[in-house]
Amino acid sequence: MNHDVHSMALLMYRLCRCSHGAYDNPHELTQSQAMALCYYYRANRVSRTISAFAAFNATTVGTASTVVDSLVRRGYVTRTRSPVDRRSMQIDLTERGREIGRGAPIRAFVDALASLTEERREALVSTVNDLLRMLRKEPERAHFGLCVNCRHLRDDDGPACGLYDIPLSEHELRQLCVKFENRRH
Ligand code: SF4
Repeated sequence: MNHDVHSMALLMYRLCRCSHGAYDNPHELTQSQAMALCYYYRANRVSRTISAFAAFNATTVGTASTVVDSLVRRGYVTRTRSPVDRRSMQIDLTERGREIGRGAPIRAFVDALASLTEERREALVSTVNDLLRMLRKEPERAHFGLCVNCRHLRDDDGPACGLYDIPLSEHELRQLCVKFENRRH
């Protein structure tokens, strides 16, 4: 197969647009609000901050803060002082927010990915991560990933994070982390 790279870039751009277009949006959320709910549903406790969402969504902290303010007003998230880092506010989904964040806005995309073989999904994740790395302009920009591939993951009497020195539950091992560092780099 021989694709010209400009057409490939357009195809990938179209994929992103279509993944949002497939959501019928019964709650009348903006694209950023829907993505914030999906993000906070999947993010671990150290990543449920405004700045981490800003990094994930490639926006400024001010823009992310405006999105979170609107979600607080609509009763989808709460904002409290982070127990891990007292300088930050932690954003948590309310029950109503969880119902949406568990997948509705990206459900069609999730289902499409689930229909691929494990091998194709692995290859896709690896390629997308490589492309994201190349597109990031600032070297210190956050790399998002899961504990299982992170160099800070320790296994003493159970899984734990060596960076924050906190134990990790099985559930947290499958959550997105803004402080992830790939053990292969
Ligand atoms: S082990 Fe890595 S990915 Fe997991 S919480 Fe710690 S820094 Fe984040």
